[in-house]
Parts: sequence; C-alpha cells; structure tokens
Amino acid sequence: MQALIFENELLLKDVPVPEPAAGEVLVKILYSSICNTDLEIIKGYMGFRGVLGHEFVGRVITESHPLRGKTVVGEINCSCGKCYLCLSSRRTHCTNRLVTGIDGHQGVFAGFISLPAENLHIVPDSIPGPVAVFTEPLAAAVEIFEQLHMKPSKPVFIFGAGKLGMLVSMVARLQGFDYTTFDLIPEKTVFARSLGLNAKSLKELLPGEKAEVCIDCTGNAEGIKLALKHLWPRGTLVLKTTVADTAKPDLNSIVINEFTILGSRCGLFKPALNLLERNLVDPSPLISGEFAFTDILKAFESAKNPLNHKIIINHQL
Ligand SMILES: [Zn+2]
Ligand SMILES: [Zn+2]
Repeated sequence: MQALIFENELLLKDVPVPEPAAGEVLVKILYSSICNTDLEIIKGYMGFRGVLGHEFVGRVITESHPLRGKTVVGEINCSCGKCYLCLSSRRTHCTNRLVTGIDGHQGVFAGFISLPAENLHIVPDSIPGPVAVFTEPLAAAVEIFEQLHMKPSKPVFIFGAGKLGMLVSMVARLQGFDYTTFDLIPEKTVFARSLGLNAKSLKELLPGEKAEVCIDCTGNAEGIKLALKHLWPRGTLVLKTTVADTAKPDLNSIVINEFTILGSRCGLFKPALNLLERNLVDPSPLISGEFAFTDILKAFESAKNPLNHKIIINHQL
C-alpha cells in the first residue's frame, strides 16, 4: 500500500499492509485529515518517524470480526489495559501506550491501518465521511469541558481561531458561555464571525481585559504568555497547544496570581459523535480543501497556509 512516511522529510512510499496483532482489526482508510500536530511532527515534535496521521474515518475489513463492514473512527491512544494508569481510568495516559501516527504506532496516511478493536467507534450513517474525520479534534475540544467546570456567568477567552480554536468556540457557544475568540489574522476572525462565533481581532484586546478562563489554542509557543496576561488572579489557563518549540512562561506570575494551569489533550469520542450526529456542532465550513491521497504532499503545503482550516484527504479517489 502507499503510505506517507516522515523520515526527516515527507515521502510517499510503498509499504506492506499491516498485519493485525491480537485484538486488532484492519481498517481501510476512507478519509483522513491533517492536524496541527502533523505539521509540528515534521518540525521535530515527538521525534516521530514512520507513517504519519491520526484523524480518519475508515471501514473495518477484517473477516469474521463483528465490526466487519462498519464505518468507524478510532481513538489514537493504544493502551495496555494492565498498567496502574489503565486500571485507574487513565487509559489515554497508559505508561505503555502507543499513539497512532504520533508515537510508536503507524498512522492513517496510508491505505490501511491496524488498530485495537476497542479503540474504534461506529460512525452513524447520517454523518458524512469528511465530517466524521472531525471526531478526534472535536473530542479534544469537548475534553476541556469534561475536565473543567466553567461558570456560564464568567468570561472565557479562547486564543486562536484555527482548526482547534474554532471547534472549542463552537462547543463553548453551544453551552451558552460568555466566550470571546481572539486571533491575530483579520481573515480568521472575519470567517469565525461569519459562522456566528463571537470573534475579535487580538488588536482589540486591551491590556487590562481579563477572563476567568483562558484557553490557548494558538498552536504557538508564545500563546501561553499571551493567555497568562489576560487571566484574572485564581483563574484557569487551559493549554491545548503542543509544539516542537517549547515556551518558557514566567512561572512567578503563576505563583503570584495563584493561576491554575490545566493541560488538556485527547477527549472521549462518544460525546463528539453525538454532537456531530445531532448537528449541534457543524464543522463542515471548516473544510478548506479536499485532496486525493496521491496528492497528499500538495495537501500538506495547503495545510501550512495559516488561512486554511481543515484539509481533508480522500483515500477513495
Ligand atoms: Zn489531531
Ligand atoms: Zn496501560
């Protein structure tokens, strides 16, 4: 099968179809999409080498498996189920975990992937393939609200109107929060407003304007410092950014202001699928382009354009 490999550079190569291990099934990839994490990996984040990609929708093709023929999305953390963290309901933090296309496990920019059956979730027929690929990033957006009780009466600032910032904003809007989404790039705030989101240019944010919760979705090492400047004392900073370049914020300000720092990564797929199925979150306007898998190198170039949101790869063309 053809696969997009990262080995110092991105290469489209012929590699063997993976052999499912015990508990795994083989999935034919239908659609995948490019995440900021993929763009960071090619800058050196996680030191990953191999088949890239973790956002997908596919069809199970393993004979005699109950999921055979089902359209599925897959959680990216492959956990052992036996370690202390797995046994204490923290499977996404499993000591022995492999992470699809990010850490030690083959990714989805390929014809097929072998994944633990327990990672898979059936996609309802009403969700189109290019929308179903948003399940993983939408789950990451919903995770914030799973982790943190936010009061609807208190202001929330979301920094970054990119792929993840837009999904976080859509979920915040759904819950009736007093949120404002900020971005430096005027086109992005104009686009966010065209989708009915409460977005403003960063230039409109005055130095004294602060929120009780700041969510950093900038995908930029400097985002943390910016968010800390606009957080009330005893407020919470939620970090969604993972970058190859690590930031060094002033830790004294965290002590002096008694800030709570909350790291937030992968979320639960079920609530994300529910939001998509009921059309409570419609990510389809965030699709900035669709490329055939054979054009995936062009797709990466397009994904690097900061004005673009989600780039979808169609593996059936
Ligand atoms: Zn992702
Ligand atoms: Zn484990």
